[in-house]
Amino acid sequence: MQVAIVTVGDELLAGETVNTNAAWLGARLTERGVTVPRVVTLPDRVDALARTINEYRAAYDAVLVTGGLGPTHDDLTMEGVAAAVGRDLEASEAALAWLEEHGGYAAEDLAAGTVHLPAGARVLHNEAGVAPGCVIESIYVLPGVPEEMQAMFERIEGEFAGEPRYVESIVTTEPESALLGRFEAVHDRFDVEIGSYPGEDVRIRVESTDEGELMDAVGWLRDRVDLADT
Ligand code: ATP
Ligand code: MG
Repeated sequence: MQVAIVTVGDELLAGETVNTNAAWLGARLTERGVTVPRVVTLPDRVDALARTINEYRAAYDAVLVTGGLGPTHDDLTMEGVAAAVGRDLEASEAALAWLEEHGGYAAEDLAAGTVHLPAGARVLHNEAGVAPGCVIESIYVLPGVPEEMQAMFERIEGEFAGEPRYVESIVTTEPESALLGRFEAVHDRFDVEIGSYPGEDVRIRVESTDEGELMDAVGWLRDRVDLADT
C-alpha cells in the first residue's frame, strides 16, 4: 500500500513550526509495512491543496492530510479537500452530535464552520481537541496539533497495511566512501535494500521483506566492516 502524506500550513513552510507530524506519520506508516512515496508541505491555499491532493489520490492508495482544520479564516484544508473531490462543505450532524455529547459543547458555542466537512465524508472524532477530521474517498484528513493528530491516527491506523519489512542497523567507524564496494557485494548476494547515513560514525541501514535474507546480509556485513562501539 502506498500512502502520501500532505502537511498543511504556511507556518511549516516558513520554518516557524518544525514538521514533526510528517516524521511521526512516516515512521508509523512504514512500521506498518506501508510505503510512503511522497511527503509534501503545502500552503494554506485551496487551489494548491485541491491540485496536489487530487494528483496524489489518483496516483496512490490513500492520502493523509494534516493541519488547517480549525474554523479560522486561515484554516482552508477542508475546503481544499472538498474541492479536490468536487463536493460542497456541509455541517456534519454526526460531528455536532458527538461534540455535544462528548465534548460538552452546545452547537451555539462552536465557532461557525467547526463541523463543516465535505458532503458525504465519514467523521473522525477529535478525542484530544475540537475540530473533527474526516475520511472522504481515499483522503484522510487529520488535525495539525500533534497530540490530536496522533490520537486520531491511532483510531484509524488499522486501515493502513502493507507487506511487513524488516530493518536492522549497523554502525561503523569507516567512512562512506570506503564502504561502497561492500555495499555492492551485499546487493549482489542478498535480496535487501541498503542505505548509509553518515554522522559521527556511519549508520548502515539494511531492509528486506525477508527476515532470513536480512539477517544473512547483516551477518555478512558485520564480519566485514569495522564496527563502532555502541
Ligand atoms: P486548530 O483547530 O487548533 O486550529 P488545526 O488542525 O487547524 O488546529 P493548524 O492550525 O494547522 O491545525 O496547526 C495548529 C498547531 O499545530 C500549529 O500552530 C502547530 O503548533 C501544530 N502543527 C500543525 N502542523 C504541524 C506539523 N506538521 N508538525 C508539527 N506541528 C504542527
Ligand atoms: Mg488551525
